[in-house]
Amino acid sequence: MTRRWEIPPTAGLPLRCRDLLGSSADLADSLARQFSIPTPALPCSGTAALVIALRTLQQRMPGRTRLIVPAYTCPLVALAAHYCPPLQVVLCDLQPGGIDLDEHQLKQLCDESTLAVVVTHLAGRVADVDTAKRIADSVGAAVIEDAAQAMGALDDGHSVGLKGDVGFFSMALGKGLTTAEGGVLFSRDSVLHQALHRQCRHDLPFSLRWELQRSAELWGYALAYQPRGLHYVYGIALRKALAQGDEVAAVGDDFSVNDIPLHRLGAYRQKVGAAALARLPDHLQQGRNRALRRAARLNTLPGVSVVMDRPGQQGTWPFLMVIMPSAPMRDAAMAQLWTSGLGVTRLFIHTLPDYPAVAPLLQTGSNIIQAQAFATRTLSISNSHWLTDALFEQILARLKAIVASPR
Ligand SMILES: *Cc1c(COP(=O)(O)O)cnc(C)c1O
Repeated sequence: MTRRWEIPPTAGLPLRCRDLLGSSADLADSLARQFSIPTPALPCSGTAALVIALRTLQQRMPGRTRLIVPAYTCPLVALAAHYCPPLQVVLCDLQPGGIDLDEHQLKQLCDESTLAVVVTHLAGRVADVDTAKRIADSVGAAVIEDAAQAMGALDDGHSVGLKGDVGFFSMALGKGLTTAEGGVLFSRDSVLHQALHRQCRHDLPFSLRWELQRSAELWGYALAYQPRGLHYVYGIALRKALAQGDEVAAVGDDFSVNDIPLHRLGAYRQKVGAAALARLPDHLQQGRNRALRRAARLNTLPGVSVVMDRPGQQGTWPFLMVIMPSAPMRDAAMAQLWTSGLGVTRLFIHTLPDYPAVAPLLQTGSNIIQAQAFATRTLSISNSHWLTDALFEQILARLKAIVASPR
């Protein structure tokens, strides 16, 4: 079945032509008001936000050389350490069947040489920050909330990113609100927050070359971010990569340290982002309603579970993270659905040690068996509004047949 359209893999907020004229509102102020966060710094990406956070913490706590991160996360998170020597990355396993850090292992890994622990609100879910904060506090380490995929998520009624010492969002393509790459960096601690702003001013120059390139990408997004356009700018490359057996290229997580420019987010793209931000609350609410209905359906399939929020937590839903009963069943589902155009894909292909570019930055030795299980048993289903109920039923029927057949 070849379709000449492609549902986007995540529920990005589409741009309107009018957005490209820009808003008169200031993006940092609007984000602060929208999410009740301190007026954030705006580096060029989520990864740049993390680099700035790490450098700021290094100055406050010299001599601490270990960064603890979830073993299953975006490879860029580990690659950020390259720009913060002599920082080494230490992997922490996940709890079984979820995205939270393994508490027992985190306790063992944290020591006086730990600079920070990264807690990741993966897939828009609200991860457990309290436990990590308690453990990190006991050794004087910081907690950084990686909310790259979770702008708009509420943790106990407040924006994610405010419980930890530092929080950041990403405005990369496909992550909800987009400026074709952009980061949002803040801290609830006003002294640390000012230090983050200072570090950004000091380390991040304006880059005309990058501004022009990213502005062109943002115009491209405004034009092509719909199923017909995505067939050409995403679907064809996806099929080609899969035909060559290159799953890493298919999902675009083949990053290296050279993929991390460090500059600031330019004024024009800020104005475009501010114009689109006005529509984000509605977009997130509709996405939440749609996702909760569909997650309930998926959770009735035997052995299948969607990663959900704990009671009281209200995440965002760029896509549904589905855990299949076994790795062979996940692979069978992907064989049928990855090139179907229906917005079914995988998040990160591997755990961090299996990315060659990441390996030199890692301190190895952790047992990451649950993270490996997560990588081999999960798939993602887009929560884009272009995936209609009828199309979602097609996916559900396929998964139902796969989990019902003995293998
Ligand atoms: C995308 C992502 C990042 C990096 O954000 P960029 O804006 O793409 O640099 C970090 N962490 C997670 C979990 C991500 O998904």
